Amino acid sequence: MPYLTQLADVARRVGVPVTEVAGWKTRGHGPQPEVQGIVCHHTAGPAGGGDYPSLAVVRDGRPGLDGPLSHFGLGRSGHIYVIAAGRCWHNAPSTSPRHDNSSSIGIEAENDGRQPWPEAQKAAYIRLCAELCREFALPASRVKAHREVNTSKPDPHSIDMNAFRRAVAALLDGGTSPSWTEEIMKQLPMVRLGDDNYDVKTVRGCLFARGRVPVSAYEQVGLEDWLKSTRYDSGLVELVRGFQQAEGIEEDGFVGPGTWPSLLRV
Ligand SMILES: [Zn+2]
Repeated sequence: MPYLTQLADVARRVGVPVTEVAGWKTRGHGPQPEVQGIVCHHTAGPAGGGDYPSLAVVRDGRPGLDGPLSHFGLGRSGHIYVIAAGRCWHNAPSTSPRHDNSSSIGIEAENDGRQPWPEAQKAAYIRLCAELCREFALPASRVKAHREVNTSKPDPHSIDMNAFRRAVAALLDGGTSPSWTEEIMKQLPMVRLGDDNYDVKTVRGCLFARGRVPVSAYEQVGLEDWLKSTRYDSGLVELVRGFQQAEGIEEDGFVGPGTWPSLLRV
């Protein structure tokens, strides 16, 4: 992949002001080899200082780390700064091969690491990620927080990344007709405590297939009978809650439109 000179056009599709930082089209540690993921950061810059006081650092680097540090800057107002089109030093070492410097795009959003995120900035963050997913044909699941792909990092602070990715996915789906999987999801039943039907068996089977059923859950009755049971009992509620917690979805203990997609992995 060459220098990503389309990034300013991608940013403009977000619908917020865009600044092309002088020299961005040839800035980088060589060209960008590939784009398989997106990594979200916060700058840990000063608490004040305007919309994007970290611009010089992200562009030029800091002692011990040459710039550019990320392809994009995102100001407190939601204003996007296009800083580099080549490879940037934003995530090394990475625990994900799809989110290292050679395989991903970095976005450095202005925040000192404690401040609440302005709504306009967060909305632009989500929309920029969605436009990048669209441009590089990535699913929303490839959008990661720095802290998710580098265990020593805290950024971006306080953003629920599952909710963030759901919002990106909703934008990616927007404007297109619902896919057949979404149609099927709408027809799936709500299954909850007290129910006694075959859908409960499906829930049990899916949980087991996902490795979410400890031996202690079925040792009294045996695995075969446990899987055959059509009763949604309190033990199943707890297992569903555990699954929901692990998946980052609302822990309501019942299986409805929010939980079926994760359970069925579609
Ligand atoms: Zn970071």
